[in-house]
Amino acid sequence: FEPWNDPDAKPLIQFRNVSKRFGEFTAIDNQSFDIYEREFFALLGPSGCGKTTMMRMLAGFETPTEGTILLGGQDIAPIPPNKRAVNMMFQSYALFPHLSVWENIAFGLKRDRRPKDEIDIRVAEMLKLTRLEQFARRKPHQISGGQRQRVALARSLAKAPKLLLLDEPLGALDAKLRQDTQFELMDIQEKTGTTFVIVTHDQEEAMTVASRVAVMDHGRIVQADIPAKIYEQPNSVYVADFIGEVTIIDGTATKADEGYEIDFAEGQPKLYCKTDKQLANGQSAHIAIRPEKVSISAEKPTDRRNILHGKIDDIAYLGNISTYHVKLPNGKIVKAQTANTRRLAHRPFTWEDEVYLSWSDTAGVLLER
Ligand code: ATP
Repeated sequence: FEPWNDPDAKPLIQFRNVSKRFGEFTAIDNQSFDIYEREFFALLGPSGCGKTTMMRMLAGFETPTEGTILLGGQDIAPIPPNKRAVNMMFQSYALFPHLSVWENIAFGLKRDRRPKDEIDIRVAEMLKLTRLEQFARRKPHQISGGQRQRVALARSLAKAPKLLLLDEPLGALDAKLRQDTQFELMDIQEKTGTTFVIVTHDQEEAMTVASRVAVMDHGRIVQADIPAKIYEQPNSVYVADFIGEVTIIDGTATKADEGYEIDFAEGQPKLYCKTDKQLANGQSAHIAIRPEKVSISAEKPTDRRNILHGKIDDIAYLGNISTYHVKLPNGKIVKAQTANTRRLAHRPFTWEDEVYLSWSDTAGVLLER
């Protein structure tokens, strides 16, 4: 499922040079991108980067200052929010407290004066989809937080929108329930075939649920790709740093073999990255290296080109894995991760141990900015 790579696939949503300004302030900066039918698209970025503004423009609560947003090829600007095939589910859920679960789900259909039979059938479908059949008669205060979340979802899907916008949909749930609910959300999205756009602060959540993740910075999408590519092939230090754990090593690049050598500190060996990228000799560059790609050993490896020597400064034991912070002689910290498959008694390294760090020629990602 990669419609963005299919030249015949028709986008559901098209942003064309869209900017949004509030007075002097540019919240969205000249953005053009597409979202496809059946996609689960995540907008991810730090507070204030413009995620909510993107959603509000899609919902019709804000209008772009410049540019056009198309839905199914049609400019949505003249269409009022309640006439768009778009629905938004808010973090607060905004359920009606005096109405039952059934009535909450039926609300939009009733307002549209749909025939009674149709409403009955549709609400029953939604109750089944969200596993709420047995709670139909209860009021929102008589069900759990997770169930309320599902009512809100059922209600926003009842009118079968083409696009559902989810603003921090799991923000009110605790960590464990949140994880289970992520899988449920993916399941419901797949079953209905509705395009979902989710806004979240939580990068793990975005990576879990989304078919594509768009990482935003100051009103721009800086990279939009499948989660594995965002993680394995970030296009900038910003993206590498925002997603997951990483060590960024800054230096200067010199052409070497099938890639570049990076000189990052006096007295330290040069690091090698095999890459197709083309950089200028002497250009400043960065290596982004994920901790799980860095091996840690007491003996100096003989089969690798990237080898650093340092001292263990910190250890985080996380059950299945341990993360080591290793301090190089110049003070730089490099993170290495090991899988804890052996028993505790065999835990190999401790604080102040002198160790070697090493990684393969292709493990580090060479970045220009
Ligand atoms: P958060 O994760 O904190 O919700 P966000 O990425 O969703 O942040 P937005 O709510 O889209 O960010 O806001 C983007 C920027 O636009 C912020 O700097 C915000 O202060 C500004 N902004 C949003 N709405 C308005 C408004 N109505 N008037 C003025 N500035 C606004």
